[in-house]
Amino acid sequence: MGDGRTIPGRIPSVDEILKTAAAVDAIDRFGRPSVVDAIRRSAEDVRASLAKANGHAASVKSSAESIMTSAVARLERQAEPNARPVFNLTGTILHTNLGRAILAEAAIEAATRAMREAMALEFDLAEGRRGERDGLVRDLLCELTGAEDATVVNNNAAAVLLALNTFGRARDVIISRGELIEIGGSFRMPEIMARAGTRLVEVGTTNRTHEKDYAAAIGPKTGLILKVHTSNYRIEGFSKSVSGKALAELAHARQVPLINDLGSGTLVDLARYGLVHEQTVAEAVAEGADLVTFSGDKLLGGPQAGFIVGRKELIAKLNKNPMKRALRMDKIRLAAVEATLRLYRDPDRLAERLPTLRMMARPRQDIETQAARILPAITAAVAPRYSASVTPCASQIGSGALPLETIPSAGIAIGFAGPRGRGRALAELVTAFRQLPMPVIGRIEDDTFVLDLRCLEDEAGFVRNLAQLRRGGDSQ
Ligand SMILES: *Cc1c(COP(=O)(O)O)cnc(C)c1O
Repeated sequence: MGDGRTIPGRIPSVDEILKTAAAVDAIDRFGRPSVVDAIRRSAEDVRASLAKANGHAASVKSSAESIMTSAVARLERQAEPNARPVFNLTGTILHTNLGRAILAEAAIEAATRAMREAMALEFDLAEGRRGERDGLVRDLLCELTGAEDATVVNNNAAAVLLALNTFGRARDVIISRGELIEIGGSFRMPEIMARAGTRLVEVGTTNRTHEKDYAAAIGPKTGLILKVHTSNYRIEGFSKSVSGKALAELAHARQVPLINDLGSGTLVDLARYGLVHEQTVAEAVAEGADLVTFSGDKLLGGPQAGFIVGRKELIAKLNKNPMKRALRMDKIRLAAVEATLRLYRDPDRLAERLPTLRMMARPRQDIETQAARILPAITAAVAPRYSASVTPCASQIGSGALPLETIPSAGIAIGFAGPRGRGRALAELVTAFRQLPMPVIGRIEDDTFVLDLRCLEDEAGFVRNLAQLRRGGDSQ
């Protein structure tokens, strides 16, 4: 290639480099402008190295081929998507930082079709005229919750915001001091209430709120009473809160709407799957809440969404609020929501089809057997520096659902075998797993790196991926 000789300290021109076989191949893969840009940057790096190497130019690789090698590496890095799938072996099934619920195959298919084709989104096929996008899921939501009507928005935070703004703007919103929650730094009930334009009227105390506290606060300026599921924490001991049923009776007697923000919101009795019973949306509707709000991607196991179900005339008011448009959901997720909700019509096969429930219901014994099966592969990948063993562990649901509940699980614990430098060795191990082609995210527990296998479904893919750890380790 070219004159075949590399003169130390001379950097080939971009045009020269573009003539190499590697560049021709790269242009085919990445397009000419990106390749030219990558060559310029790599040549720039070489120039900087040469300047630093003063007098030792021969130690710097500056041939067209070597610059092209670094340019290709750069191009490959750039081509990697930022939205990378990972193995969630944290033991938290609905991990907000890892995207919460994994969708059912039916939902994935529905979303894919919605992306690929035009669809009757706001079009009534029976009448041949304009329809409503909520119409796609309204009947299903009513059927599954027993509510009169339903609407869907971007997420539950949006559902709460819309409900507060519609019924509480420039009015009082009554809420117990025990329910002024923060769900992660970005969702704090008092702040959402302020942004919705409502006046916060706190009643009761942190640990105890009585019916008479609510009753005394209701007045002509009351817009609504808000009951909030405390989700990610519990007040125990000397505590009291007012039941949804008692609050509904009070609200109706005084003619103010009661909105129950269930947070996670489940459509099935979790006791069926060996978990503690959590009030279902249908139960919250039945005990008299005028509106109930809940998430799509928590216990429900669907895509990010916020549902508001309840009385028809209140839903109609929500739909008239101009904010609804700003909070509305797109066709892709609506299609996925519809397909997810349909699965609930066959509860007997739900745990098979809905990944969230399937993972929650997975028996510990099954996970332990899997751990024993993949232990040799993990040992081979981390030995001799680290040793691995099967360990019992505890999974949790996450995203504020049943925060005190843990589910007995099993996994692999990987520890550093050496006498010193345990902390650093462990940090290196965690990093190496994170840098795998498909990053593996676990958790640190008692000086070991624990991989809870509850959410591991693609076992073969996991083992194949692990082989890269071995390679990475050798080249370091
Ligand atoms: C999680 C949660 C929210 C926010 O729901 P997103 O779907 O994450 O927007 C609101 N209220 C409660 C009680 C929650 O648990």
